[in-house]
Amino acid sequence: MKVDAIVLAGGRGKRMGSRIPKQYMELNGKPLLYYSLKAFEESFVDNVILVSNEGDLDYCRKEIVIKYGLNKVNKIVKGGEERFDSVYNALIASDGCDYIYIHDGARPLVSQYILDRCQHYVEKYRAAVAAHPAGDTIKLEDGNHFIESTPDRNKVWLMETPQVFEYGLARSAYEKLMASRDRLKEANVNITDDTMVIKMFENVDSYLVENTNCNIKVTRPEDMLIAKVMLEERERTSSC
Ligand code: C5P
Repeated sequence: MKVDAIVLAGGRGKRMGSRIPKQYMELNGKPLLYYSLKAFEESFVDNVILVSNEGDLDYCRKEIVIKYGLNKVNKIVKGGEERFDSVYNALIASDGCDYIYIHDGARPLVSQYILDRCQHYVEKYRAAVAAHPAGDTIKLEDGNHFIESTPDRNKVWLMETPQVFEYGLARSAYEKLMASRDRLKEANVNITDDTMVIKMFENVDSYLVENTNCNIKVTRPEDMLIAKVMLEERERTSSC
């Protein structure tokens, strides 16, 4: 069985408000992106395809992949305009595999525990996603800044990554997505994760794999502080 991973670092991270793209910002002495690549390096995953901005391909190869000996990263491909364009670029660059992990490089806390759990469920259900139940009440807006409705909190889950699929299923769904890209753009359909694409084009439901570990996506400056503390805590407890 062959398992590959796509690690996405092709975004601009505008919400971070920093000069350096967030994926390269320093976290406990190493670039943020290093941590998720390292997690895959230490896992059962065979190969990693890293996606970066076109201008950063060389930087990623020299300053992250070679510098930290991340030998499973066998391809670095350029990202696209939207996250789903970046995923597509990596899927078509892949040599093919049985299962594909799609992970945000901006989630440095991904654990071996969740990688294992996702593998278990993707083999069972073809599509699986790391997620956790909502802590806050979620509201849907009416488009004019007023609350329209309140989904039952007991049924609301927040999506994380990895999102994991049979490779053939993901490839087929993303090819169909790219073929209808312009039509979806005109209709203002906002594609923000991979499970959406699998449902929309292959009608396959993804299994929610509950993640009890912190797996935040570093989006705002304060998230760096949370990630820093969590990484320090993990290092401390693993050396006990
Ligand atoms: O924008 P968002 O926070 O949802 O991005 C999630 C992940 O996708 C980040 O790791 C980001 O670098 C990546 N991304 C990408 N290509 C894009 C946009 C985002 O690889 N065009």
